[in-house]
Amino acid sequence: MRRLGDISIRYKLVAISTLISVAALVVASGALIAWDQVRSRTELSNNLQTLTKIVAENSTAAVSYFDTDAAVGTLQAIRAQSGIEAACIFDRNGLFAKYAANEGGACPSSPGADGTFLSGTSLWVVAPIVLENQRIGTIYVRSGLQEIAARLRLQMLSSLIILIGAGSVALILSSWLQGLISTPIGDLAGTMQAVSDRKDYRLRAVKRANDELGGLASSFNLMLAQIEERDAELLAAKAELESRVEQRTEELRNQLQETQRTQEALVKVNAELVRSNKELDDFAYIASHDLKEPLRGIHSYSGFLLEDYGGKLDEEAHSRLETLMRLSQRMEMLIDTLLHFARVGRVKLAHEHLDLDEVLHEAIDSLRIRLTELGVDIRIPRPLPPEFCDRTRIGEVFQNLIANAMKYNDKPEKWIEIGYENSDGPRTYYVRDNGIGIPAKHRESIFRIFKRLHPREKFGGGAGAGLTIVRKIVERHLGRLWLESQEGEGTTFFFTLSPDR
Ligand code: ADP
Repeated sequence: MRRLGDISIRYKLVAISTLISVAALVVASGALIAWDQVRSRTELSNNLQTLTKIVAENSTAAVSYFDTDAAVGTLQAIRAQSGIEAACIFDRNGLFAKYAANEGGACPSSPGADGTFLSGTSLWVVAPIVLENQRIGTIYVRSGLQEIAARLRLQMLSSLIILIGAGSVALILSSWLQGLISTPIGDLAGTMQAVSDRKDYRLRAVKRANDELGGLASSFNLMLAQIEERDAELLAAKAELESRVEQRTEELRNQLQETQRTQEALVKVNAELVRSNKELDDFAYIASHDLKEPLRGIHSYSGFLLEDYGGKLDEEAHSRLETLMRLSQRMEMLIDTLLHFARVGRVKLAHEHLDLDEVLHEAIDSLRIRLTELGVDIRIPRPLPPEFCDRTRIGEVFQNLIANAMKYNDKPEKWIEIGYENSDGPRTYYVRDNGIGIPAKHRESIFRIFKRLHPREKFGGGAGAGLTIVRKIVERHLGRLWLESQEGEGTTFFFTLSPDR
């Protein structure tokens, strides 16, 4: 069953106004009827008292002379008054004379006390009959209330008819007038529903009058206009955003294609580089390997010549042959270095988890004699951590860097510090010395193979390949090698063993 509150506002308005009208009518007619009843009873009571008094006065002679007929005659005069049921005169001996309008109009056996009395169906008055201030009898007059009851019934019936008529009029009027309120509300609700269903903020509510509902419709329309405006702005912003996103997507797509093309080209170049690097390594390996045999031949034959024909040769030829032997020896050393370099590039790295501190100490041990001779102070602030790398190659890195740090030092108190730094990226190892330092202009060229900054025999000599090999090993571990140096004060070589993050 539908709740009362769910009923349409139109019916509610009709019901409310009809109910109010009916209720007002019921209250008004109820009050009128009640007032009329009270007034009728008071009037009846007053009339009956006056009548009783007149009859009492007119009966004094009849009662004092015991003239019953005269008394009855006086009583019969009451007939003119409608509603009288009985009128009785009592003397000292009891009932003296009586008048009864009908069969029910019996007199009581005794009149009772003086006064006016009301029962459900009748009203009666008891009054004294007085002669010269002496009570000679009592008069009792009783009237029925039928007239008042009939009046009440008539009033109620007419009230009911008026009520029905007025109710109907109220119903018709309120059915007609409710439109003044329910129609604009219905319009507003309909517009709201349509806006919410269709999301169309161009719709507007109809303003029917300049009352509060009209104001409501205007405010609602204003709100719709603002929403419409904002909607339009939003749509424009959305369109703008979409076009920007589209434009950016297109740009990104182009960039992506460009990057892909570059990447593909890079992959090709890389493959080409790998191939040519390998070819170069192979070539260096094969060439140096193959060059060694004839070189050894030159060296041996120069030796034979000196041994077998030494006596027949003059001093200059002797010296030239010795130079030839020295040069071929040096060339062999260079070829060996080249071969080693080529091998470092070709051999597969054997990565393992190892104790780098141990590797460092092995490298130091291999250089121990020279270090002691030169009185180099080796400083290791803290043990090196474990690392994932190729044991032999990293040992070689430490050996080369420590050997250089030891060699290129002209200070009376030499020291070398080996350690690592905790940085954000991969761990950075370093080998620091207080040696001669490296001029800024040579900081790149020293990594070229066979590049030396000093005359051949100075600082203990060397092939000029140590740093080239160190760089190759570090790069094969995907790390980086760089240096910081202050001429005359020292050099620090840094390296990492994994890619930068
Ligand atoms: P080599 O030591 O055989 O000459 P390297 O490749 O190891 O070859 O070094 C190249 C050059 O770099 C050296 O000749 C030297 O001049 C310079 N160098 C290397 N290490 C240091 C260092 N710790 N201090 C100063 N100079 C150095």
